[in-house]
Amino acid sequence: MRLQNKVAIITGAASGIGKQIAVTFAREGGLVAIADLNRDAANAAAREIDPTGKRAIGVSMDVTDEKQVDAGTAKVVETFGALDVLVSNAGIQIVAPIVEFEFAKWKQLLAIHLDGAFLTTRAALRQMYKQRSGSVIYMGSVHSKEASVLKAPYVTAKHGLIGLAKVVAKEGAAHGVRANVICPGFVRTPLVEKQIPEQAKELGISQEDVIKKVMLKETVDGEFTTVEDVAETALFLACFASNALTGQSIVVSHGWFMQ
Ligand code: NAD
Repeated sequence: MRLQNKVAIITGAASGIGKQIAVTFAREGGLVAIADLNRDAANAAAREIDPTGKRAIGVSMDVTDEKQVDAGTAKVVETFGALDVLVSNAGIQIVAPIVEFEFAKWKQLLAIHLDGAFLTTRAALRQMYKQRSGSVIYMGSVHSKEASVLKAPYVTAKHGLIGLAKVVAKEGAAHGVRANVICPGFVRTPLVEKQIPEQAKELGISQEDVIKKVMLKETVDGEFTTVEDVAETALFLACFASNALTGQSIVVSHGWFMQ
């Protein structure tokens, strides 16, 4: 049990990558809070993990809303008595060429990825500093390192998370807090399933070609990364024992991007 009785908040954990991280942390003895905009799905995921509600709870949280983030974080600390790990994972994708990108959509995407990361980090650090320990993990992307057409705000936001993680690593060190970024390649979650037909339309190619010639073209083996691959990396970062691993970004992408 690598996370025995450690308390984790995972944002966007009602679905996809975040949900698998919650399942994995719970498997390792962690107490998990599934914080998500979708309250019903968050509660359902928590019940799936622990029907008694003692080791997993759903928390209704829009990560762009300061009050909801602070209240949700306080609820987790009140329920479980501590906060050891934050996984800032909630995210969306919107694809369009820059010349057609609606300003409102640009702002919406940046708010979820960047304001959300800032607000959840601030709330978590206030508790972690009191405990003098903690691990903050950001869900970056290969798009934290690399660009793709049609994804201007996403690439911008994901690059930005690396900057935030480095500042948290520097400020947090004196308080026993580490911060790192996971950078997955394409994972077949609802976020990616939605993009396949959208990109096919924008690029004028088949959905099969979006998968083979766009999403997986640069991988070493033509394989999708899995939610399990990302969750095991999150577990590794969550329980790493020293400041040796802080301010870093780990790419998990079947070799799509090699640093
Ligand atoms: P997903 O769509 O399966 O899950 C995203 C979750 O975030 C949903 O449950 C949604 O309700 C929640 N969410 C959205 N807006 C929110 C908000 N304002 N407040 C709280 N919760 C909100 O997506 P996923 O693929 O699991 O993506 C999770 C993270 O992983 C995202 O940050 C994404 O950018 C990143 N990522 C995904 C991939 C991939 O290929 N799927 C690759 C690299 C990085």
